[in-house]
Amino acid sequence: MKKNKKKKLDELVRRDLSSIWHPCTQMKDHESIPMIPIRSGKGVWLYDYEDNKYIDAISSWWVNLFGHSNSYINSQIKRQLDNLEHVLLAGFSHEPAINLAERLIKLSPKDIKKCFFTDNGSSAIDAAMKMSFHFWKNVGYKKKRKFIALSNSYHGETLGSLSISNIDLYKKTYTKILKDTIIVPSPDCYNKLNDGVSDKDHTSKMFKHMEEIVEKKHEEICAIIIEPLVQCAGYMRMYHPVYLKLLRELCDKYNVHLIADEIAVGFGRTGTMFGYEQAKITPDIICLSKGITGGYLTLSTILTTNLIYEAFYDEYIKLNAFLHSHSYSGNALACSAANATLDLFAKKNIIQKNKSTAKYINEKFSKFKELDYVSDVRQTGMITAVELAKDKKSKKPYNWKERRGIKAYKFGLENNVILRPLGNVIYFMPPYIINKSEINHVVDVVEGAIKFATK
Ligand SMILES: *Cc1c(COP(=O)(O)O)cnc(C)c1O
Repeated sequence: MKKNKKKKLDELVRRDLSSIWHPCTQMKDHESIPMIPIRSGKGVWLYDYEDNKYIDAISSWWVNLFGHSNSYINSQIKRQLDNLEHVLLAGFSHEPAINLAERLIKLSPKDIKKCFFTDNGSSAIDAAMKMSFHFWKNVGYKKKRKFIALSNSYHGETLGSLSISNIDLYKKTYTKILKDTIIVPSPDCYNKLNDGVSDKDHTSKMFKHMEEIVEKKHEEICAIIIEPLVQCAGYMRMYHPVYLKLLRELCDKYNVHLIADEIAVGFGRTGTMFGYEQAKITPDIICLSKGITGGYLTLSTILTTNLIYEAFYDEYIKLNAFLHSHSYSGNALACSAANATLDLFAKKNIIQKNKSTAKYINEKFSKFKELDYVSDVRQTGMITAVELAKDKKSKKPYNWKERRGIKAYKFGLENNVILRPLGNVIYFMPPYIINKSEINHVVDVVEGAIKFATK
């Protein structure tokens, strides 16, 4: 029996590696790192072909909220499947999209009134950039064609979204074919030089860089795009909500849009339903994806105000309409998964429940601060990160070529946990249904992984 399983596994790996080019992967790494075909999933657990199981401690790239093969989401998608799988969203509509749009608007600040459907995170960002630029054109601000983003930001991989990102690893190679963007130093609190300074003071102080640029260049600027509270792909770096509040005031003063990229942090990750809520602001444009379908299907949306919507509303021949489209915009199955996800938030009082889960995680992770080579343990809501450094005190980083993160990754796999460190940062971003004993297991494995990777 065991032998048969091994044979099946070997065959799948061989067929995979001879046909699939995997995302975000140096394929040569698979000469030493195992490729793991997953047979099934249930709750936080994923099962391979040899009866090994793994806790999905990173929610399958931050998309899964209520576990794999969630019986309620499954049932809602199956119900939808028997009625309508998909119809084009131009000229036609369907109940799942209508319900979802209404519900997302209801969850947003009162000035947010419209929902535009796209089909993945990067495409939502590209569409938001076009929407902002096109708005200013329609209302007669012809000079506005640039965007501002923070250093260490990540907004996606398409040429538009990569243009406004700032992580060298993903961007540098392609710089020559990207649109130039104004990059302003991030308020990232890991960069505080002095431990006596509060996060709020550090964040506020860093705002002066933004102020200076916007004062000088606002006439050319369409929008400032920001990941509220946590730069997730940017090594889970965090900052204080006061930055968003200051940004809102600045954008109002100078006629610049504020685009909130909630693709990673939305749907409860930061402790509130959306990150921007913690600054009590209304962005002009909000991009959502990832957790929106509970991790089931690809969908994204852009939420915006009537002010923006109405600047496009005109006689067709004036060509002011937003003619942006994706074939699978507002796919009915994806919308039904999203509606099921929102049902679960409401029925199970998730935001409230996550508070005690986050507190428990905090208690468990805090002890890692004492370890050698751990320069920071930080947490915002349900996102927790441990940063490893060559020198704990000065935060001098390990040379990236040492690939400490891969060591932690391998240690995790050998101990039934999927960790996928970002450089020297091990993070924990679990599905919300994770229980205490599962958290305890992850904590033990993270401790082992830290020690193994810093040996
Ligand atoms: C993942 C991510 C994106 C891109 O979404 P994709 O669906 O992967 O294209 C954009 N912004 C942020 C903040 C993200 O984390």
